[in-house]
Amino acid sequence: MAQRRGTRVKNLSDALVEDACPLCSVLKDFQTCHLNELDRHEVDRLCGFHVWMVAKLADARSAAAVFLRIIARPFPQESPISACDACERIAQEERTRVKEFAASLNNPQFMRWLRDHGALCLPHAQKILSEVPKTAQSDIVLALSRRRSELTQKLTELLRQAGDKLPTQPGVLGRAAEYLVAQRGLRS
Ligand SMILES: [Zn+2]
Ligand SMILES: [Zn+2]
Repeated sequence: MAQRRGTRVKNLSDALVEDACPLCSVLKDFQTCHLNELDRHEVDRLCGFHVWMVAKLADARSAAAVFLRIIARPFPQESPISACDACERIAQEERTRVKEFAASLNNPQFMRWLRDHGALCLPHAQKILSEVPKTAQSDIVLALSRRRSELTQKLTELLRQAGDKLPTQPGVLGRAAEYLVAQRGLRS
């Protein structure tokens, strides 16, 4: 469903929820808002993924204005066909948010969330690692490996129960799927 124009993009501390990567969460939110206001920006190149997202999510006026602009591009084109203005804008926002998250690790609320849940996706964890001092790096690595070993343990147990034709614990595959999908970041 199309979001209202001018909707505030949520901030990082709002996105500290148990089982989702806060950076993916704020960037998905940003992406939706950005796609809804695309006609206000200089957009005349969109990748296939964002063309479909605009068609599905953006309001009709914004989508039609942007599609008209893309169709009107002169031919032959100077920039490569693979370039996408939305991807570039989101990557720019991602760099800002990764730095913001890295700086927020001084904040006890962020540190507590990282120690208790640590649900960062791998691409974002890797980007944050390159922004933080050594002491915070070990906290991030620890949080990720704790989460991974918890899932490994649950899946191993599920495999054993299923092999022995015992009743299996519900919800494990759903949590593992959520984790695996989250590793794919924004395009999941
Ligand atoms: Zn993420
Ligand atoms: Zn794109």
